[in-house]
Amino acid sequence: MKLSTFLSILNDNVPFDSAESWDNVGLLVGDRTSDISGIMTALDCTAEVVDEAIEKGCNTIVAHHPLIFKGMRAITADEGYGNIIYKLIQNNMNLIAMHTNLDVHPQGVNAMLADCLGLESCRILMPETTDYYKVQVYIPEADADAFKLRLSEQGLATEGNYEHAFFNTRGKGQFKPVGDAQPHIGEVGTIETVDEVKIEFMIDGTQRKLAEQLIQQYHPYETPVYDFIPLQKDIQRGLGMIGQLPQSMTVAQFVAHVKTQLDMPSVRFIGNPHAQIETVALIGGSGIGYEMTAMKQGADIFLTGDIKHHDALDAKIAGMNLLDINHYSEHVMKEGLVKLLNQWISQQFDGQIVASTTHTDPYQYM
Ligand SMILES: [Zn+2]
Repeated sequence: MKLSTFLSILNDNVPFDSAESWDNVGLLVGDRTSDISGIMTALDCTAEVVDEAIEKGCNTIVAHHPLIFKGMRAITADEGYGNIIYKLIQNNMNLIAMHTNLDVHPQGVNAMLADCLGLESCRILMPETTDYYKVQVYIPEADADAFKLRLSEQGLATEGNYEHAFFNTRGKGQFKPVGDAQPHIGEVGTIETVDEVKIEFMIDGTQRKLAEQLIQQYHPYETPVYDFIPLQKDIQRGLGMIGQLPQSMTVAQFVAHVKTQLDMPSVRFIGNPHAQIETVALIGGSGIGYEMTAMKQGADIFLTGDIKHHDALDAKIAGMNLLDINHYSEHVMKEGLVKLLNQWISQQFDGQIVASTTHTDPYQYM
């Protein structure tokens, strides 16, 4: 399989543009025209990870954390992060980053963590919303079909795999043209009653200007009457997960469970050690700042990494239970992404898809 094909399959499943604006995802190093020999997933692309990929015959690494993120001043064989890029290029390797786009995916890093902890009835902690409009236009019955065709041709009024999705209600329109009016129907100074249709359809937030322009252009009336009703809907992606343990546990039991499942030698707890835990919210990586959202949704405990002293103190004073599971707990994405890739590309790709076994946690737990 060509790298370009792989990238477009990734983009179909975990759109790169769903990443945060500050992020750096997609192809970071490589050649889109190259053939993929094998794929290795990794949390961080370190020099050891590149060596492992070469050894395993995988010329393509899909890493969660973007290697190219902060300013990089040199790409040389002997220095820092530049050395890793140098090694990738010298060995004709490809490096793809799937970072915050994988975080917000419904089967992404947070779902993988929830799955690893055995949470049930999971839902996204903070579902993203998208803006759309319901449009209503009033038009003479005789002109309605041609008008709808014009809108439909321009990509308006689609619902999933359905185009030309309109709802029509018949009614009577009334108006009295006055002053310098040049009416399509009727005469100045006379109340006119016309058989009209109210056409209703949906557009997404980006189509509003186009819709307004097309209505002005193709509606027969001098002054068309229409409404844009702004609406929002949840989309199936967003940060964090919240779910239930199969049975309630003490903090001590829960902590032991988390350490075993995430293969973490130590974690840090803030809160009431006598609490019973049943509803668990989590955000992989650095999710501090969302603990209140989690508590408001009924979480007995919030799990994330990188919790600092003052965040911890704030939470303790507010009576919350937090568990710092370390940023490295995101390593579950290595196996999780292998499973997803197998679902997405097994039809087109018969090479190996493996998870890196290199340990990239910079901390040693003493
Ligand atoms: Zn991370």
